[in-house]
Amino acid sequence: MQQKTLSLLQFQKKFGTEQACQKQLFRLRWPEGFKCPRCGHAEAYFHSKRHLYQCKSCGYQASLTAGTVFHKTRTPLTKWFWLIWLMGRQKSGISMLSMQRMLEIKTYKTVWTMGHKIRKALGDRDAHYRLAGLIEKDDTYFGAPKPGKRGRGAAGKAKVVVAVAVETPGNKPRFAAMHMVPRVSGQEIQALVWARLVAEVVVKTDGWQGYSFLDALPYRHEWLVPGSGKEAPKVLPWVHTLIANIKGNIRGVHHGVSPKHLPRYLAEFCYRFNRRFWEPQMFNRMLHASLNSSSITFSELRP
Ligand SMILES: [Zn+2]
Repeated sequence: MQQKTLSLLQFQKKFGTEQACQKQLFRLRWPEGFKCPRCGHAEAYFHSKRHLYQCKSCGYQASLTAGTVFHKTRTPLTKWFWLIWLMGRQKSGISMLSMQRMLEIKTYKTVWTMGHKIRKALGDRDAHYRLAGLIEKDDTYFGAPKPGKRGRGAAGKAKVVVAVAVETPGNKPRFAAMHMVPRVSGQEIQALVWARLVAEVVVKTDGWQGYSFLDALPYRHEWLVPGSGKEAPKVLPWVHTLIANIKGNIRGVHHGVSPKHLPRYLAEFCYRFNRRFWEPQMFNRMLHASLNSSSITFSELRP
């Protein structure tokens, strides 16, 4: 695994051909070398166009890309690799319209779908982890609330629960998770999401009564502010910083997103944030995630 983040030119040199990209996928998929899933034989013919390895002994065909985000793609792997690499490097997110031009991808629909396939893979990866330790937690709305309504009761478009695990001592953020929840403010729904986010914790929230369900869970819960007032950004600094960052990205780079697609943008943001100290490995980790996540199709994505 490379130790330094590759420069643009180094990346192009390393992954400039289909063959080089296929080799890289092969290495990640079968680190011990090829082994036929049916008979265990170690030698295979390679059909590069179809990304297939055919066992020399029994003829079984093992696909390099089946069950991954690259399944049945007609876009060259070199373009996929660039897209994944650029998405990993750009902390504020990347515009798919500019990607379409830069990577010479024929339609916006194609690059848009590729982006969401990758985001889904990143989300699937982070779903394996839960936050632990000291947690700052708050929730927020994405999309404009209806005029005249403000605060927690506002009829916003999408409600998102945000949690950040904070290092103690040091008070530095470590890992983050964001989940869109149904607009229903039922405690059961919140508790369900919360149980999926968090392992063993001390939870800090503001004083909103909606959090009282936390007291019934096996966590230590600190109420920090009387009411959900203006003090919240001071006592829950990291959740508020992250919320401001992702809202800025979504406004500035993606020009707003619909609630249907929002969870995948949240996943992309958290994935990058959670691995910000492992930048040199980011690309390979993202590739690995892409190989271990089943694909979604454009028709599943369509609004
Ligand atoms: Zn075989």
